[in-house]
Amino acid sequence: MSKQRLTHEHRCPQYRGTNRKSHAEFVEDLKSKRDDVIIISKYVKALEKAKFRFLKCGHECDITPAHILSGRGCPECGRSRRGESQRLSMEIFLERLHKIDSNLVVKGDGIYINNHTLMPLHCNACGYEYKISPHDVLSKRGCPNCHRACTSFLEQFIYHTFTHILNKSKVISREKTL
Ligand SMILES: [Zn+2]
Ligand SMILES: [Zn+2]
Repeated sequence: MSKQRLTHEHRCPQYRGTNRKSHAEFVEDLKSKRDDVIIISKYVKALEKAKFRFLKCGHECDITPAHILSGRGCPECGRSRRGESQRLSMEIFLERLHKIDSNLVVKGDGIYINNHTLMPLHCNACGYEYKISPHDVLSKRGCPNCHRACTSFLEQFIYHTFTHILNKSKVISREKTL
């Protein structure tokens, strides 16, 4: 801010007037800008918190008057809106989880916070429990224990089949020793 402007502010009573509103002036100003919120405590100055009541929801909150004039909404309702979007994310997550592995369920009070916060999962098929971030679970193939069991079963199957064939067929076993 230039020195010139500062001296102007000091000299100009009108500017000082808008900078330091009285309670009544603020009420008028607020009325002309918004009809969804009223001030219910005494206005001190633009950057000192005052109590406001939001008429749509009835919430009463301490907010900086300057923020109210610049259009700030009810912080209480903002909080519950965030809760709402979190509930929605949880539903979307559960839906995707079900598609990936319908045996996987979120354990206990596990709740979706974000893509990287670990969630406790329980596998209904094998009882395996583990923690994994939604990002990882959605990019993988479901219960790691079931998949391990599945792989080792397949490996065992191949192993036994080959041993069986090798024992029976001398040609193959001879070829193998060569
Ligand atoms: Zn509210
Ligand atoms: Zn499993």
